[in-house]
Amino acid sequence: MAKHNYDVLVIGSGPGGKHAAIAAAHIGKKVGIIERKPKLGGVSLQTGTIPSKALREAAFLKSRFAAKGMRRALVGSLKISNREFLQEAILTKDNIIDKQESVLLNHLMRNGVSIIPGEAKFVDSHTLEIIDLNNKTDQLSADFIILATGSRPRRPKDVPFDKKRVLDSTSILKLERIPESLVVIGGGVIACELATMFALLGVKITIVDSHKQLLAYLDEDIISNLTEHMKDMDIDIHMSTDVTEIIHAHNSVIVNSSDNHQFKSSHLIYAMGRVPNIEKLCINACGLNDNDNGWIKTNEYCQTEVENVFVIGDLAGKPSLAATAMEQGRIVIAKAFNQEYQQSKSPLPMAIYTIPELSYVGATEKELQAQNCDYIAGHARFAETARGQIIGAKKGRLKILMDRKSHDLLGVHIIGETASELIHIGQIAMGYGGKVEHLASNVYNYPTLAECYKSAALDCLNKLS
Ligand SMILES: Cc1cc2nc3c(=O)[nH]c(=O)nc-3n(C[C@H](O)[C@H](O)[C@H](O)COP(=O)(O)OP(=O)(O)OC[C@H]3O[C@@H](n4cnc5c(N)ncnc54)[C@H](O)[C@@H]3O)c2cc1C
Repeated sequence: MAKHNYDVLVIGSGPGGKHAAIAAAHIGKKVGIIERKPKLGGVSLQTGTIPSKALREAAFLKSRFAAKGMRRALVGSLKISNREFLQEAILTKDNIIDKQESVLLNHLMRNGVSIIPGEAKFVDSHTLEIIDLNNKTDQLSADFIILATGSRPRRPKDVPFDKKRVLDSTSILKLERIPESLVVIGGGVIACELATMFALLGVKITIVDSHKQLLAYLDEDIISNLTEHMKDMDIDIHMSTDVTEIIHAHNSVIVNSSDNHQFKSSHLIYAMGRVPNIEKLCINACGLNDNDNGWIKTNEYCQTEVENVFVIGDLAGKPSLAATAMEQGRIVIAKAFNQEYQQSKSPLPMAIYTIPELSYVGATEKELQAQNCDYIAGHARFAETARGQIIGAKKGRLKILMDRKSHDLLGVHIIGETASELIHIGQIAMGYGGKVEHLASNVYNYPTLAECYKSAALDCLNKLS
């Protein structure tokens, strides 16, 4: 191989790029990470995961005090307008982002990763041209090139986006005033998360989506629980409805739909999918082609048809999660340098940070039924635990699915507070051969929501006879 400037060049400083760069640095490789934005961290840190979760936490805490009847006790500190509240929440969010960015910067620098500002594109399969913010051009080469350029919100031409009233998932998180009302176009993860968060901030929400059901791939009865919660929050849900027109009127947005409905609101968010950040990379110059939708074909190691070029994170397509991007970062470095890679045996967990939050691992009941699998569902309610009562998380519940014959754990589905944390107990049990008896006999801290695993496991075993 010709002598190159770097062993590895990574394009993009999101979770995928960061983990690839650090994994390569850990095994003594010379690594550079290229980022076109003035701030590091990608969508995950700067415009998506962390900002949305930080704002969600503020909305959640506000609603929780109200739900627990503590409003009177806290009346002094709660004498704050919605506008002031949002400003405080934005300040907290910005502080979190700044702190996380400096942790990331430290981490990269401590590991000797060179940070290269600028936008990268291919010259050939080992060489990149980088144009920095001052339009200065440089060329760098590497044995391996990792594409971790992520994705951005889909913005169809006929939607009149203006970052003020007609928003996407990036611009909505930068709003400085709480909208009066919000039409949410879409019924996926980002749409549902934002809908519940803004509903708890007092915004009148209408969801319009062409699918039959929100989050259709989730367990049906968990979704019907979520839908009930959303209706309790006064969210109007219009499913199986196609949007035919979005009009940006004076001080309002009007949406016309295929079933002759008209929805009017002060603001609108269009949350219907994301597109890959691929155009600027000039991938043809390295011998690659994207498929019809802009995604690049890769093998199980995220390696493209050009051996030294790898694709990770959102650019690699679904599931488009930060955790997956991080893991792929480690996989590609192990593959590139023939290192041993310890793959987790556990299935991938999924969390949706609606309020209440949802999380699952493994199969849904519908999937098991389609496979003619003989299973038993065991249920536990958060309200049955002392911790559930103490924290006021009365509506949450946990369901485990057990193979009737082997007692293997086939799936865990949770709705309620800390679902995204609780799921990892089931995930590890599933990955390492745990049986439902292990969950039933395990000793859990008291009082905890984790005790729900014991109750749900016992419920399964009691249904055996
Ligand atoms: C509102 C929202 C909420 C989300 N919530 C969650 C959540 O709760 N949990 C979760 O797991 N995931 C969540 N996600 C998804 C998560 O943010 C992404 O899956 C993750 O950020 C993908 O990481 P990545 O490394 O592929 O790229 P990204 O984080 O998208 O970063 C890509 C980086 O590459 C840079 N770049 C692009 N092209 C070039 C170029 N040519 N040259 C140089 N630099 C370039 C970009 O500027 C960017 O900084 C959320 C997303 C959104 C939008």
